[in-house]
Amino acid sequence: MTAKPVVIVGGGGGGDAAAFALRKKGYDGEVMILSADRDRPYDRPYLSKEFLRGEVELQKVFLHEEAEYSKEKIEIRLEERVVGGSLRDRTLSLQSGGEVSFDTLVVSTGGTPRRLPEAPDSYNLFTLRSLRDSQAIRDGLKRAKRLLLVGAGFIGAEVGASARQLGKEVLMVESAPVPLARALGEEVGNV
Ligand SMILES: Cc1cc2nc3c(=O)[nH]c(=O)nc-3n(C[C@H](O)[C@H](O)[C@H](O)COP(=O)(O)OP(=O)(O)OC[C@H]3O[C@@H](n4cnc5c(N)ncnc54)[C@H](O)[C@@H]3O)c2cc1C
Repeated sequence: MTAKPVVIVGGGGGGDAAAFALRKKGYDGEVMILSADRDRPYDRPYLSKEFLRGEVELQKVFLHEEAEYSKEKIEIRLEERVVGGSLRDRTLSLQSGGEVSFDTLVVSTGGTPRRLPEAPDSYNLFTLRSLRDSQAIRDGLKRAKRLLLVGAGFIGAEVGASARQLGKEVLMVESAPVPLARALGEEVGNV
């Protein structure tokens, strides 16, 4: 039996692992990753820590070498946002205008930062999710003396700690009574 095409929407760790796992398990059909990101899959944990502080090279952040995708016959299409489709017809529509057909669909679209509704776009206002966000914050911190962080969850707390290591003044604003309260509870948050 000929294996049918698998289309994976999302080029984060989840989508990347799904594609390579299919090959490892012997799946020999077409595998395609559609990713809205500008960069091939990378390891986000670096983005608020070692990469943000300039301690690791860009190459270390990527999950696979570029050549590994062609070697494993995984087609990866970057800057390709899926905006709709039909499960009945097994098609996806792309923001760029085209359509892609699938037999099996894997949705691995991850998370998106919540923005402050009233805050206008500005050269010194950032959210952190992508490699490009981390690069922009890293560059911004080079010029900055003080950082205002909204949200003291894991990512906010990590960016705060990284900025302190870089010698910046940091003010964190959090609606919960202690940092990390949602993830770890008040007792650990207090520590
Ligand atoms: C700064 C930061 C630090 C982190 N640190 C840690 C840590 O230390 N330890 C830990 O365990 N976890 C950490 N995490 C969380 C971890 O990175 C996530 O759990 C992980 O990235 C989830 O992987 P994912 O593939 O499900 O989603 P994501 O990594 O969010 O990937 C989703 C992908 O889908 C793409 N996409 C979204 N919508 C569409 C669409 N419509 N069409 C096409 N593509 C689309 C996005 O562009 C993205 O490439 C951190 C996250 C961040 C942002």
